[in-house]
Amino acid sequence: MMSSEELHKRRGAAVARGVGSVINSYVDHASGGTVTDVEGREWIDFAAGIAVTNVGNSAPRVVEAVRAQVERFTHTCFMVAPYESYVAVCERLNALTPGGFEKRSALFNSGAEAVENAVKIARHATGRPAVVVFDHAYHGRTNLTMALTAKNMPYKHRFGPFAGEVYRVPMSYPLRDGGLSGAEAAARAVETVEKQVGAENVAALLIEPIQGEGGFVVPAPGFLPALREWATAADVVFIADEIQTGFCRTGDWFACDHERVEPDLVALAKGIAGGLPLAAVTGRAELMDAVHAGGLGGTYGGNPIACAAALASIETMHELDLVAAARRIESVLVPRLRAIAERSGGRVAEVRGRGAMLAVELVQPGTVTPDPVGTAAVSAACHSAGLLTLTCGTYGNVLRFLPPLVISDDELERGLDILAAAFD
Ligand SMILES: *Cc1c(COP(=O)(O)O)cnc(C)c1O
Repeated sequence: MMSSEELHKRRGAAVARGVGSVINSYVDHASGGTVTDVEGREWIDFAAGIAVTNVGNSAPRVVEAVRAQVERFTHTCFMVAPYESYVAVCERLNALTPGGFEKRSALFNSGAEAVENAVKIARHATGRPAVVVFDHAYHGRTNLTMALTAKNMPYKHRFGPFAGEVYRVPMSYPLRDGGLSGAEAAARAVETVEKQVGAENVAALLIEPIQGEGGFVVPAPGFLPALREWATAADVVFIADEIQTGFCRTGDWFACDHERVEPDLVALAKGIAGGLPLAAVTGRAELMDAVHAGGLGGTYGGNPIACAAALASIETMHELDLVAAARRIESVLVPRLRAIAERSGGRVAEVRGRGAMLAVELVQPGTVTPDPVGTAAVSAACHSAGLLTLTCGTYGNVLRFLPPLVISDDELERGLDILAAAFD
């Protein structure tokens, strides 16, 4: 087999530079908690392919379901000749997502596509143009979702002009907003909308219940419920982007469950199908069904192989109780992250997150000035010692931890040992 070095050379001559990678080693295989490269070097996986392989890589039920589906048929296009698994995935999503009301779902390929479609549905159903989004938000890389995303580098830089009628308001970010309560931060956001946009012009308020790329920002308690209440009163569609937080990741099926917030529409992707590309919009039947037949879709949306994988993944989440697994991961990680923070000489300002979506934010000691250089250094030390971690944050100063939910305690501890040594 070719070495990683040789593959990297080939890549340089064949793959566009704009597509980056966290490590320069090339994968041979991966499991429930590790990734192994072509040289046989192993990494403890604290990335899960960006919160995708919640059920682990090549989870047995997923492999079996995919194999069986590939042999039956690979693609007919649901818009041409429909099949049961698409309907079954929609049934599962309607039942699992927050809210006891009547729901419908539609399936797509990527998270960005799900967000775009949620916005299309909200605009169509309300007849209003504006979309409200938050500081530090990340919603994807297509034209509309770049407009919805906050951070310029690397996501938006020189890729404009962007879609219009997108308005950004302040987020609840307890470390950096002077410790506003959830209600106070929501009032600040709502005032911005009412003064600068006008509630009657707003189709949708779009929010990640815990922000992902933006820095694993957990809003103060009460922030999401207050926004939900305002949206209801203003007839604004409340869209939760649960693309990174969904499917047991945060110790609930969905992060909105934590404060019993019921979004009108939910955008889903990442953890949905054990690594196969699938995304969905699920929400109130009257909103979803407002769109004329043929108004939603796409050639590959709800591909039968991806649907088979999603059904098997969801079964695995139930069978292995991955909600409990995410909480167990939190109970193993948080005490050790706190110990790392205490020994860091003030370089870790905060340990935060929920379930298996955890992060540490790095600062200059004694301040809240971001330390992206230190963050990159710790990250690089982890990578060379065999731990796959990711960074995030508007300031590039957050280390985030997203292990597969089936990772073993032994692998978690080994990963934490590497992390602790990297900090030292
Ligand atoms: C990853 C992500 C997206 C975009 O999903 P893609 O599948 O990469 O298009 C949107 N929103 C959030 C919160 C994400 O984490």
